[in-house]
Amino acid sequence: MDDQGRISNVTTVDFLVIGAGIAGASVASELIRHGSVLILEAEDHPGYHTTGRSASMFLEFHSNATMRALVRRSRPFLESPPDGFAAQPLLNDLGVLFIARADQLNSLARIMDENYQESARVVSGDHRLAMRKHPALRPEYVTACLWNPDAMEIDIHALLHGFLGIFRRSGGQLQNGERVVSLHRDGGYWTVQTDEASYRAAVVVNSAGAWADQLGQLAGAQTIGLVPKRRSVCIISAGRFDVTGWPMVGDVDEEFYFKPDAGNLLLSPADETPMEPCDVYPDDLDIARAVEHLEAATNIKVTRKIDRQWAGLRSFVEDKMPVVGYDAKADGFFWLAGQGGDGIQTSPALSRLAAALVIDHPVPDDLASDGVTPEVLSPKRLINPKSS
Ligand SMILES: Cc1cc2nc3c(=O)[nH]c(=O)nc-3n(C[C@H](O)[C@H](O)[C@H](O)COP(=O)(O)OP(=O)(O)OC[C@H]3O[C@@H](n4cnc5c(N)ncnc54)[C@H](O)[C@@H]3O)c2cc1C
Repeated sequence: MDDQGRISNVTTVDFLVIGAGIAGASVASELIRHGSVLILEAEDHPGYHTTGRSASMFLEFHSNATMRALVRRSRPFLESPPDGFAAQPLLNDLGVLFIARADQLNSLARIMDENYQESARVVSGDHRLAMRKHPALRPEYVTACLWNPDAMEIDIHALLHGFLGIFRRSGGQLQNGERVVSLHRDGGYWTVQTDEASYRAAVVVNSAGAWADQLGQLAGAQTIGLVPKRRSVCIISAGRFDVTGWPMVGDVDEEFYFKPDAGNLLLSPADETPMEPCDVYPDDLDIARAVEHLEAATNIKVTRKIDRQWAGLRSFVEDKMPVVGYDAKADGFFWLAGQGGDGIQTSPALSRLAAALVIDHPVPDDLASDGVTPEVLSPKRLINPKSS
């Protein structure tokens, strides 16, 4: 072996991470403290797929206690990352207003029940509170609302490149433009083949986003039943309104949402269309539906052509929880997938948890004290007894 860890021209590392989205970048920044790490990314630059297409919200609202814990325990890192992590703050104040029509009051009550205990700064009110927070809303549309000032906007570019900066400065290597095409285990090592080269690693971390089940198949691992779902977004003008200081507004049943974006509005139909993994584009009908919702709920008229629109794939397993842990069948094959719509805001906590489990350490204390267990996120929970 030479001083680069090469055996017969094959680079050998302790941990090989597949995918340089937020999942791969964040876990690599943790694993680099415990050994040599290589990230292989199929595209020409990190964050090309779902990570670069997110709505960038930090929102401590979730129907599931483990997810709420992962978000809450990510906040300290996002509020004060390590020195030199980013040149600007990672979080910016925004606030979120959930709005409900008269036929949606049960949904509002459910959100309030699920989150009230843990998020002290949740205030409920009627259309008057909604109008105070968001003057473009129509009072006749909004019957009730829920206001949370603690929702923030995440600077995703700074977060992703902050993780990669730590990784690189600690000696980690990122190879862009190298798609993994085969995985083979022999003698306690994975041989990982791309179109360009071969690599060897004791542990492979599968953080390939929407492609994670496909990578699992290449490795002879279990399937996790991952379903990528398209979510679309467009940028529109708010017309005569000045959006400065507006919060995010979300329909309480997640039928649509919108928030300020560099003087304009970012609007989403909150679509969830199942798709094969791909470089996904929005559907015009979904965008038209979002505009209809916006015009019904507010006095904003969308008169100009939509300048910019995009879509990304949010990937879910059946119980909508992330999948973190070693595979049930393939030795040394570790899953970090299925983050759905929460992969950015949970990345600090989820990557600490994942790195601990990769090296066989216990769940970090802060997460354990919030009831996060390895079992609840393990891929083993997804084995279908009928098919195994
Ligand atoms: C419209 C939208 C809004 C969202 N809003 C939010 C939000 O407000 N807050 C939040 O927390 N989350 C949000 N999300 C979800 C969040 O973006 C995802 O959970 C997160 O980005 C997933 O990151 P990832 O690294 O798993 O996937 P990705 O970013 O897709 O990264 C996976 C990487 O693996 C690479 N890869 C795949 N196959 C291979 C291979 N064979 N070899 C090498 N590399 C490979 C891909 O090229 C890709 O770069 C949103 C998502 C969308 C689409």
